[in-house]
Amino acid sequence: MLVRNWKVNKPIPPIDKHKPTRAEAEAAIRTLIQWAGDDPDREGLVDTPSRVVRSYEEFYQGYTADPRALLERTFEEVEGYDEIVFLRDIRFESHCEHHMAPIIGRAHVAYLPHQRVVGISKLARLIDVYSKRLQIQEKMTSQIANTINEILQPKGTAVVIEASHQCMTTRGVHKAGVSMVTSTMLGAFREEPSTRREFLAMIGNPVHREAPFT
Ligand SMILES: [Zn+2]
Repeated sequence: MLVRNWKVNKPIPPIDKHKPTRAEAEAAIRTLIQWAGDDPDREGLVDTPSRVVRSYEEFYQGYTADPRALLERTFEEVEGYDEIVFLRDIRFESHCEHHMAPIIGRAHVAYLPHQRVVGISKLARLIDVYSKRLQIQEKMTSQIANTINEILQPKGTAVVIEASHQCMTTRGVHKAGVSMVTSTMLGAFREEPSTRREFLAMIGNPVHREAPFT
């Protein structure tokens, strides 16, 4: 079955269909080294293509994981706990899909449980699965929130991401020190101002915390 891209309603080909071999990926890196103006055969660069390809396996390992499966194991013995569960300052590293430059930041994730909770390490892992892909911050924020909302079915889900984009700090407009903040609020966090306020107070003012991207 073909998946449809909800935005343009065109079928998306399966990701693995045209997956190149490792040798082809390494050859592409050689080409980029030459494009940059250097000699891929000199001593310092000779093993670089294979190193870069191994780095890519790490940077993009989120493509091989199923984010939904991560949250499937839940715990229902919560003694009626029905207050916000909040995980703050989850550091992540991603790459922007426009320049393949690093995006480094922190995610804050909260949900208001409805009879069940999930292990907190699973929430942190969920951030990894979506961040270790080519991303834009807006999409990543809603993917994380939507997955928690769909699988856990809590009374509400909130995700705030603050990140610095190296495509903006090290190239282009060269604006260092700028961070972008995105948020997705669902259920009670969207509909109830008091729940939203409680969540925002829990995050605190980022300016008064330790610099997030060092
Ligand atoms: Zn970019």
